[in-house]
Amino acid sequence: MHFSDGRLALSKAADQLNFLNAAEIAALIESEGFKSGERYFLGLDQINSEPYFAWNSPHPNSENDHAPAGYATLREIGGALDELQMEIALHAVALSNWHNTHPHCARCGATTSISLGGAIRTCDKDKSEHYPRTDCAVIVLVRDSQDRILLGRQAIWPEGRFSCFAGFLEPGETFEQCVQREVFEEAGLAIREINYLGSQPWPFPASIMISFDAITDFPESARPDGEEIVAIKWLSRDELKAEISAGTLLLPPDISVSRKMIDRWLTA
Ligand SMILES: [Zn+2]
Repeated sequence: MHFSDGRLALSKAADQLNFLNAAEIAALIESEGFKSGERYFLGLDQINSEPYFAWNSPHPNSENDHAPAGYATLREIGGALDELQMEIALHAVALSNWHNTHPHCARCGATTSISLGGAIRTCDKDKSEHYPRTDCAVIVLVRDSQDRILLGRQAIWPEGRFSCFAGFLEPGETFEQCVQREVFEEAGLAIREINYLGSQPWPFPASIMISFDAITDFPESARPDGEEIVAIKWLSRDELKAEISAGTLLLPPDISVSRKMIDRWLTA
């Protein structure tokens, strides 16, 4: 599959990934002027052992901010992809984002080259090996004893958007400590019963979201920090549905972890 300037190549119907063979890639380089780029091995199909590769190749016109037709970002196309294509897309986007931003060695500044089929880069000078990095971020759905949930709003979000609390793991921190710290920093709340729910790759550009739920015994003490979070809301299921119907509350997009957590609670 083709990844170009942050976008995935789509099928003609624009609802699936477009898979190319070597001859088609050669023709694209020839006719439309894509650069030869880099190729990364993504893995084997579990059923028929067919190999999948990502071809990471920018278009020569990419500088003018005009995306070629037939390409879309993972955010734009993610909701339409089936499970396998989503896995392939997540892997390809995460790997390509890392390769695109690590052309030089962090130790000596020399150029690096792709090795092990795209699994690592190797410094051309000191031969040190550099591994793709994934940034851990926790996300938490906070509930109270009446089974209401607490959502927060960031100033940069679209009007009416509220979501779960989230933040990056700091060095030396456990996931649970990070969940406690983020909720305390952003909403001033003490929480207990932090339970792991699951995880989802989030290559925008290089994260994995590790999701939890938690309980607070002090819902009335919740306060937005006024910096990262500018407003908060406690919502029962009925209140949440009513606000969505009235158009006063906008939930995060379908492919986001937070949306899945909220939907899961809503239908529990
Ligand atoms: Zn080096």
